[in-house]
Amino acid sequence: MRSPYGSVFKLFADTFGSCPGCGGNHPLWPERKYHVDWGESESIEHDPDSIRHALEVLAAAANGSPQCNEPLLRIMVTSTYEAMSQMRMGAWARRQYRKRRQSGQDPMLAQETALYVFLSMTLMWSSIYATTSGQGVDKVLESVTEQANAAATSISQERRQAAESLLVAAVQQAPEHGEDLEGLFSALSLSCRMLEKLSMHLQGNKIDNQVGILLAAGNYALCAGALVSRLGSV
Ligand SMILES: [Zn+2]
Repeated sequence: MRSPYGSVFKLFADTFGSCPGCGGNHPLWPERKYHVDWGESESIEHDPDSIRHALEVLAAAANGSPQCNEPLLRIMVTSTYEAMSQMRMGAWARRQYRKRRQSGQDPMLAQETALYVFLSMTLMWSSIYATTSGQGVDKVLESVTEQANAAATSISQERRQAAESLLVAAVQQAPEHGEDLEGLFSALSLSCRMLEKLSMHLQGNKIDNQVGILLAAGNYALCAGALVSRLGSV
């Protein structure tokens, strides 16, 4: 879906308005120059509200309010399912709808878009840092995921592994989709469509699982974002 505002950044200034988690205002992080201009890029057909929501989650964590992230993500996941239940689809229609989304014919769910935002930023920021610091992207990505997984002790190992498996799948399939970041982003947009399916195979309920996987993926973006924002300060 193309943003009617041209760019998702026009949906907020440098802060996001009052946060539903704490009532405060979290400033965009890291600096705008390090972000994809969502809405300008032709390959982006995602819902701008879901992108903004994902950016807000990152901003809250970077602003010293990681406790806002879980409620922000939970609102997103539960409202998706509330909207779906109002569509009153039967079991067959629901299965068809899911198949169309997974194959890329229909737009992703809001939470799948948020996952896409977290993981594509992780990839982009890791690659910026790798180029500037002269390290390989693989090395940087490995250290980002290791650090983030080690720090995220409140998230179950199963959910952390699920987040990592979606990222790894995209990296492995990227060469079939094109060169460099283009290929990665395109492989990632298919990989993120597996969030719902994956969440139903893990223990526990799918909503808790999706929130946990999103939190783990958000931590990757935080770690990679911390690396690029360090570049700006030297
Ligand atoms: Zn907040």
